[in-house]
Amino acid sequence: MVQTKGYATHDASAKFGPFDFERRDVGDSDILIDILYAGICHSDIHQAKGEWGNSTFPMVPGHEIIGRVKQIGSSVTKFADGDIAGIGCFVDSCRECVNCERDVEQWCIKGCAQTYNSTEMDRSTPTYGGYSKHYVIDQEYALTVAADQNLEGIAPLLCAGITTYSPLRRFEAGPGMKVGVIGLGGLGHMAVKLAAAMGAEVTVFSTSPGKEEDATGLGAHHFVVTRDPKALKPLAGSFDLLIDAVSAEHDLNMYLDLLSFEGKLVLVGAPEKPLPVNSFSLIVNNRSLVGSGIGGIRETQEMLDFCAEHNVTADVEVINITQIEEAYDRTIRADVRYRFVIDMQTF
Ligand SMILES: [Zn+2]
Ligand SMILES: [Zn+2]
Repeated sequence: MVQTKGYATHDASAKFGPFDFERRDVGDSDILIDILYAGICHSDIHQAKGEWGNSTFPMVPGHEIIGRVKQIGSSVTKFADGDIAGIGCFVDSCRECVNCERDVEQWCIKGCAQTYNSTEMDRSTPTYGGYSKHYVIDQEYALTVAADQNLEGIAPLLCAGITTYSPLRRFEAGPGMKVGVIGLGGLGHMAVKLAAAMGAEVTVFSTSPGKEEDATGLGAHHFVVTRDPKALKPLAGSFDLLIDAVSAEHDLNMYLDLLSFEGKLVLVGAPEKPLPVNSFSLIVNNRSLVGSGIGGIRETQEMLDFCAEHNVTADVEVINITQIEEAYDRTIRADVRYRFVIDMQTF
Protein backbone atom coordinates (compact mmCIF):
# COMPACT_ATOMS: atom_id res chain seq x y z
CA MET A 1 0.00 0.00 0.00
CA VAL A 2 1.02 3.60 -0.52
CA GLN A 3 1.13 5.54 2.74
CA THR A 4 -0.17 9.07 2.38
CA LYS A 5 -1.93 11.82 4.28
CA GLY A 6 -4.77 14.19 3.66
CA TYR A 7 -6.98 16.70 5.38
CA ALA A 8 -10.15 15.00 6.53
CA THR A 9 -13.33 15.82 8.37
CA HIS A 10 -14.56 13.09 10.68
CA ASP A 11 -18.19 14.20 10.83
CA ALA A 12 -20.59 16.72 9.32
CA SER A 13 -19.02 19.56 11.32
CA ALA A 14 -16.61 19.99 8.37
CA LYS A 15 -13.71 20.66 10.75
CA PHE A 16 -10.60 19.56 8.93
CA GLY A 17 -7.35 18.12 10.26
CA PRO A 18 -4.48 15.90 9.13
CA PHE A 19 -5.41 12.27 8.43
CA ASP A 20 -3.06 9.37 7.62
CA PHE A 21 -4.37 6.75 5.23
CA GLU A 22 -3.32 4.32 2.49
CA ARG A 23 -3.85 4.31 -1.23
CA ARG A 24 -3.71 1.08 -3.21
CA ASP A 25 -0.41 -0.19 -4.60
CA VAL A 26 0.42 1.11 -8.06
CA GLY A 27 -0.98 -1.57 -10.40
CA ASP A 28 0.18 -2.29 -13.95
CA SER A 29 -2.08 0.35 -15.50
CA ASP A 30 -1.97 2.81 -12.58
CA ILE A 31 -0.13 6.04 -12.00
CA LEU A 32 0.78 7.59 -8.65
CA ILE A 33 0.69 11.38 -8.57
CA ASP A 34 2.01 13.94 -6.12
CA ILE A 35 -0.89 16.33 -5.81
CA LEU A 36 0.06 19.94 -6.50
CA TYR A 37 -3.31 21.69 -6.40
CA ALA A 38 -6.85 20.80 -5.38
CA GLY A 39 -9.81 23.07 -6.12
CA ILE A 40 -12.64 23.60 -3.66
CA CYS A 41 -15.94 22.84 -5.36
CA HIS A 42 -19.23 23.82 -3.73
CA SER A 43 -20.20 20.15 -3.76
CA ASP A 44 -17.24 19.43 -1.43
CA ILE A 45 -18.95 21.67 1.09
CA HIS A 46 -22.34 19.98 0.70
CA GLN A 47 -20.75 16.56 1.15
CA ALA A 48 -18.45 17.55 4.03
CA LYS A 49 -21.44 19.01 5.87
CA GLY A 50 -23.57 15.95 5.17
CA GLU A 51 -26.15 18.04 3.29
CA TRP A 52 -26.82 15.50 0.54
CA GLY A 53 -27.51 12.64 2.95
CA ASN A 54 -24.90 10.27 1.49
CA SER A 55 -21.76 11.31 3.34
CA THR A 56 -19.32 8.77 4.73
CA PHE A 57 -16.61 9.79 7.21
CA PRO A 58 -13.73 10.26 7.56
CA MET A 59 -13.98 12.25 4.33
CA VAL A 60 -11.15 13.78 2.33
CA PRO A 61 -12.96 15.89 -0.30
CA GLY A 62 -11.55 17.27 -3.53
CA HIS A 63 -12.27 16.39 -7.17
CA GLU A 64 -10.41 19.13 -9.01
CA ILE A 65 -6.93 17.68 -8.84
CA ILE A 66 -3.69 18.50 -10.58
CA GLY A 67 -0.56 16.51 -9.80
CA ARG A 68 2.81 15.41 -11.03
CA VAL A 69 3.32 11.77 -11.99
CA LYS A 70 5.70 10.16 -9.53
CA GLN A 71 5.41 6.49 -10.44
CA ILE A 72 3.86 4.52 -13.30
CA GLY A 73 2.75 0.90 -13.64
CA SER A 74 4.42 -1.50 -16.09
CA SER A 75 1.77 -1.14 -18.83
CA VAL A 76 1.29 2.64 -18.60
CA THR A 77 1.76 4.42 -21.93
CA LYS A 78 -0.29 7.59 -21.47
CA PHE A 79 2.04 9.13 -18.86
CA ALA A 80 5.73 9.25 -18.03
CA ASP A 81 7.37 10.17 -14.74
CA GLY A 82 7.23 13.93 -14.21
CA ASP A 83 4.22 14.53 -16.47
CA ILE A 84 1.30 16.59 -15.21
CA ALA A 85 -1.97 14.70 -14.71
CA GLY A 86 -5.48 15.78 -13.80
CA ILE A 87 -8.19 13.93 -11.89
CA GLY A 88 -11.83 14.99 -11.96
CA CYS A 89 -15.02 13.79 -10.30
CA PHE A 90 -14.67 10.03 -10.87
CA VAL A 91 -11.75 7.61 -10.93
CA ASP A 92 -13.20 4.41 -12.42
CA SER A 93 -16.35 2.89 -13.92
CA CYS A 94 -17.50 -0.55 -15.11
CA ARG A 95 -16.07 0.04 -18.62
CA GLU A 96 -18.66 -2.17 -20.34
CA CYS A 97 -22.16 -0.73 -19.88
CA VAL A 98 -23.90 1.24 -22.61
CA ASN A 99 -22.99 4.58 -21.02
CA CYS A 100 -19.33 3.65 -20.54
CA GLU A 101 -19.36 2.60 -24.21
CA ARG A 102 -20.81 6.02 -25.07
CA ASP A 103 -17.94 7.79 -23.29
CA VAL A 104 -20.22 9.14 -20.58
CA GLU A 105 -18.65 7.17 -17.78
CA GLN A 106 -20.04 9.67 -15.28
CA TRP A 107 -23.41 8.02 -15.94
CA CYS A 108 -22.06 4.44 -15.74
CA ILE A 109 -25.15 2.32 -15.25
CA LYS A 110 -23.47 0.37 -12.47
CA GLY A 111 -22.35 3.61 -10.81
CA CYS A 112 -18.87 5.01 -11.30
CA ALA A 113 -16.26 5.20 -8.56
CA GLN A 114 -16.33 8.82 -7.49
CA THR A 115 -13.13 10.51 -6.51
CA TYR A 116 -14.12 10.75 -2.83
CA ASN A 117 -17.04 9.88 -0.56
CA SER A 118 -17.44 6.73 -2.64
CA THR A 119 -15.69 3.40 -3.14
CA GLU A 120 -13.51 1.80 -5.77
CA MET A 121 -15.38 -0.50 -8.17
CA ASP A 122 -14.84 -3.33 -5.62
CA ARG A 123 -17.55 -1.42 -3.69
CA SER A 124 -15.59 -1.72 -0.48
CA THR A 125 -12.35 0.28 -0.68
CA PRO A 126 -13.19 3.88 0.25
CA THR A 127 -12.06 6.66 -2.07
CA TYR A 128 -10.42 9.77 -0.65
CA GLY A 129 -10.14 12.97 -2.64
CA GLY A 130 -7.68 15.64 -3.57
CA TYR A 131 -7.10 17.42 -0.25
CA SER A 132 -4.19 14.98 0.08
CA LYS A 133 -0.59 14.39 -0.93
CA HIS A 134 -1.02 11.53 -3.43
CA TYR A 135 -3.55 9.72 -5.58
CA VAL A 136 -3.31 6.32 -7.30
CA ILE A 137 -5.50 6.07 -10.40
CA ASP A 138 -5.81 3.98 -13.53
CA GLN A 139 -4.22 5.86 -16.44
CA GLU A 140 -7.47 5.64 -18.43
CA TYR A 141 -9.26 7.82 -15.86
CA ALA A 142 -6.51 10.44 -15.52
CA LEU A 143 -6.28 13.41 -17.87
CA THR A 144 -3.16 14.68 -19.55
CA VAL A 145 -2.26 18.32 -18.88
CA ALA A 146 0.43 20.38 -20.61
CA ALA A 147 3.00 21.42 -17.98
CA ASP A 148 3.65 24.92 -19.32
CA GLN A 149 0.42 26.40 -17.96
CA ASN A 150 -0.79 28.16 -14.84
CA LEU A 151 -1.56 24.86 -13.11
CA GLU A 152 -3.47 26.31 -10.15
CA GLY A 153 -5.93 27.78 -12.65
CA ILE A 154 -6.25 24.42 -14.42
CA ALA A 155 -7.40 22.48 -11.33
CA PRO A 156 -10.97 23.89 -11.34
CA LEU A 157 -11.38 22.92 -14.98
CA LEU A 158 -11.70 19.30 -13.82
CA CYS A 159 -15.17 19.98 -12.39
CA ALA A 160 -16.33 23.57 -13.00
CA GLY A 161 -14.72 23.61 -16.46
CA ILE A 162 -16.17 20.37 -17.80
CA THR A 163 -19.57 21.02 -16.20
CA THR A 164 -19.96 24.13 -18.34
CA TYR A 165 -17.97 23.03 -21.42
CA SER A 166 -20.09 19.94 -22.00
CA PRO A 167 -23.46 21.68 -22.53
CA LEU A 168 -21.84 24.52 -24.50
CA ARG A 169 -20.42 21.90 -26.89
CA ARG A 170 -23.55 19.77 -26.92
CA PHE A 171 -25.62 22.77 -28.03
CA GLU A 172 -22.91 24.05 -30.33
CA ALA A 173 -22.05 27.42 -28.81
CA GLY A 174 -20.11 29.40 -31.38
CA PRO A 175 -20.07 32.46 -33.62
CA GLY A 176 -23.50 33.93 -34.31
CA MET A 177 -24.97 32.36 -31.21
CA LYS A 178 -26.39 34.29 -28.27
CA VAL A 179 -25.48 32.58 -25.01
CA GLY A 180 -26.61 33.76 -21.59
CA VAL A 181 -24.94 32.75 -18.34
CA ILE A 182 -27.13 32.99 -15.26
CA GLY A 183 -25.16 33.48 -12.04
CA LEU A 184 -21.52 34.52 -11.91
CA GLY A 185 -19.92 32.13 -9.43
CA GLY A 186 -17.45 29.26 -9.84
CA LEU A 187 -19.45 27.58 -12.61
CA GLY A 188 -20.75 30.78 -14.19
CA HIS A 189 -17.35 32.37 -14.58
CA MET A 190 -16.12 29.27 -16.44
CA ALA A 191 -19.22 29.29 -18.65
CA VAL A 192 -18.48 32.92 -19.62
CA LYS A 193 -14.83 32.24 -20.45
CA LEU A 194 -15.60 29.08 -22.42
CA ALA A 195 -18.57 30.48 -24.36
CA ALA A 196 -16.53 33.56 -25.26
CA ALA A 197 -13.57 31.39 -26.34
CA MET A 198 -15.96 29.41 -28.57
CA GLY A 199 -16.93 32.67 -30.28
CA ALA A 200 -20.46 33.13 -28.91
CA GLU A 201 -21.98 36.48 -27.95
CA VAL A 202 -22.16 36.22 -24.16
CA THR A 203 -24.52 37.94 -21.73
CA VAL A 204 -24.20 37.57 -17.97
CA PHE A 205 -27.31 37.68 -15.77
CA SER A 206 -26.47 38.50 -12.18
CA THR A 207 -28.14 39.80 -9.05
CA SER A 208 -24.94 41.73 -8.18
CA PRO A 209 -24.45 45.02 -10.07
CA GLY A 210 -20.87 45.06 -8.73
CA LYS A 211 -19.92 42.12 -10.93
CA GLU A 212 -20.28 43.94 -14.24
CA GLU A 213 -16.61 44.81 -14.50
CA ASP A 214 -15.65 41.23 -13.69
CA ALA A 215 -18.07 39.87 -16.27
CA THR A 216 -16.57 42.06 -18.97
CA GLY A 217 -13.07 41.08 -17.90
CA LEU A 218 -14.00 37.41 -18.19
CA GLY A 219 -15.12 37.97 -21.78
CA ALA A 220 -18.84 38.78 -21.51
CA HIS A 221 -20.24 41.22 -24.07
CA HIS A 222 -23.31 42.27 -22.09
CA PHE A 223 -24.33 42.37 -18.44
CA VAL A 224 -27.88 42.39 -17.08
CA VAL A 225 -28.76 43.02 -13.43
CA THR A 226 -31.69 40.76 -12.64
CA ARG A 227 -32.89 42.33 -9.38
CA ASP A 228 -35.58 44.11 -11.39
CA PRO A 229 -37.36 41.51 -13.56
CA LYS A 230 -38.41 44.35 -15.89
CA ALA A 231 -34.82 44.52 -17.09
CA LEU A 232 -35.38 41.17 -18.83
CA LYS A 233 -38.54 42.13 -20.73
CA PRO A 234 -36.83 43.71 -23.76
CA LEU A 235 -34.69 40.56 -24.14
CA ALA A 236 -37.66 38.16 -24.46
CA GLY A 237 -37.17 35.53 -27.17
CA SER A 238 -33.63 36.55 -28.03
CA PHE A 239 -31.29 33.83 -26.64
CA ASP A 240 -30.26 30.54 -28.24
CA LEU A 241 -28.80 29.01 -25.11
CA LEU A 242 -28.84 29.78 -21.41
CA ILE A 243 -26.49 28.15 -18.93
CA ASP A 244 -28.16 28.33 -15.52
CA ALA A 245 -25.48 28.07 -12.84
CA VAL A 246 -27.59 29.30 -9.93
CA SER A 247 -27.84 26.98 -6.94
CA ALA A 248 -30.30 29.14 -4.99
CA GLU A 249 -34.03 29.37 -5.54
CA HIS A 250 -34.86 31.47 -8.61
CA ASP A 251 -37.59 32.01 -11.20
CA LEU A 252 -36.93 29.71 -14.16
CA ASN A 253 -39.87 31.04 -16.18
CA MET A 254 -38.39 34.51 -16.27
CA TYR A 255 -35.34 33.03 -18.03
CA LEU A 256 -37.16 30.51 -20.22
CA ASP A 257 -39.06 33.47 -21.70
CA LEU A 258 -35.73 34.80 -22.97
CA LEU A 259 -35.24 31.82 -25.31
CA SER A 260 -35.75 32.09 -29.05
CA PHE A 261 -37.13 29.32 -31.31
CA GLU A 262 -35.86 25.93 -30.07
CA GLY A 263 -33.74 27.68 -27.47
CA LYS A 264 -32.40 25.66 -24.56
CA LEU A 265 -31.98 26.41 -20.89
CA VAL A 266 -29.43 24.08 -19.30
CA LEU A 267 -29.42 23.53 -15.57
CA VAL A 268 -25.94 23.00 -14.16
CA GLY A 269 -26.62 24.50 -10.72
CA ALA A 270 -28.55 22.43 -8.20
CA PRO A 271 -31.04 24.35 -6.05
CA GLU A 272 -32.25 22.39 -3.04
CA LYS A 273 -35.98 22.86 -3.69
CA PRO A 274 -37.94 22.06 -6.89
CA LEU A 275 -38.36 24.99 -9.28
CA PRO A 276 -41.85 25.55 -10.75
CA VAL A 277 -42.12 25.68 -14.55
CA ASN A 278 -45.06 27.17 -16.46
CA SER A 279 -46.01 25.00 -19.45
CA PHE A 280 -46.21 28.01 -21.74
CA SER A 281 -42.68 29.06 -20.90
CA LEU A 282 -41.65 25.86 -22.73
CA ILE A 283 -44.41 25.57 -25.33
CA VAL A 284 -43.81 29.01 -26.81
CA ASN A 285 -40.89 28.83 -29.26
CA ASN A 286 -40.60 25.01 -28.76
CA ARG A 287 -38.13 25.55 -25.94
CA SER A 288 -36.23 22.90 -23.98
CA LEU A 289 -35.25 22.75 -20.35
CA VAL A 290 -32.37 20.31 -19.98
CA GLY A 291 -29.82 19.19 -17.43
CA SER A 292 -26.13 18.42 -17.72
CA GLY A 293 -23.59 16.86 -15.39
CA ILE A 294 -19.78 17.00 -15.80
CA GLY A 295 -18.52 14.99 -18.80
CA GLY A 296 -16.86 11.69 -19.68
CA ILE A 297 -13.11 11.19 -19.86
CA ARG A 298 -12.92 11.77 -23.63
CA GLU A 299 -14.81 15.05 -23.42
CA THR A 300 -12.90 16.18 -20.31
CA GLN A 301 -9.65 15.68 -22.19
CA GLU A 302 -11.09 17.59 -25.16
CA MET A 303 -12.02 20.44 -22.76
CA LEU A 304 -8.51 20.56 -21.25
CA ASP A 305 -6.98 20.63 -24.73
CA PHE A 306 -9.40 23.38 -25.79
CA CYS A 307 -8.52 25.44 -22.71
CA ALA A 308 -4.79 25.01 -23.31
CA GLU A 309 -5.21 26.11 -26.92
CA HIS A 310 -7.34 29.15 -26.01
CA ASN A 311 -5.51 30.07 -22.82
CA VAL A 312 -8.55 29.51 -20.66
CA THR A 313 -8.00 28.95 -16.94
CA ALA A 314 -10.13 29.54 -13.87
CA ASP A 315 -9.68 32.72 -11.82
CA VAL A 316 -8.47 31.38 -8.51
CA GLU A 317 -7.45 32.37 -5.01
CA VAL A 318 -4.71 30.01 -3.84
CA ILE A 319 -4.85 29.06 -0.14
CA ASN A 320 -2.88 27.02 2.39
CA ILE A 321 -4.13 23.64 3.57
CA THR A 322 -5.03 25.17 6.96
CA GLN A 323 -7.45 27.64 5.37
CA ILE A 324 -10.04 25.11 4.15
CA GLU A 325 -12.69 26.02 6.73
CA GLU A 326 -12.28 29.74 6.06
CA ALA A 327 -12.53 29.06 2.31
CA TYR A 328 -15.71 27.05 2.87
CA ASP A 329 -17.28 29.94 4.81
CA ARG A 330 -16.32 32.40 2.12
CA THR A 331 -17.56 30.12 -0.69
CA ILE A 332 -20.92 29.83 1.06
CA ARG A 333 -21.08 33.65 1.22
CA ALA A 334 -20.09 33.80 -2.49
CA ASP A 335 -17.05 35.79 -1.37
CA VAL A 336 -14.56 34.31 -3.84
CA ARG A 337 -13.49 35.29 -7.32
CA TYR A 338 -14.00 32.62 -8.46
CA ARG A 339 -12.54 29.44 -7.05
CA PHE A 340 -10.38 28.53 -4.07
CA VAL A 341 -7.50 26.22 -4.84
CA ILE A 342 -5.42 24.55 -2.14
CA ASP A 343 -1.67 24.61 -2.68
CA MET A 344 -0.74 21.11 -1.52
CA GLN A 345 2.90 22.09 -1.09
CA THR A 346 1.72 23.89 2.07
CA PHE A 347 0.93 20.50 3.63
ZN1 LIG B 1 -17.34 19.71 -8.30
ZN1 LIG C 1 -20.39 1.47 -16.92
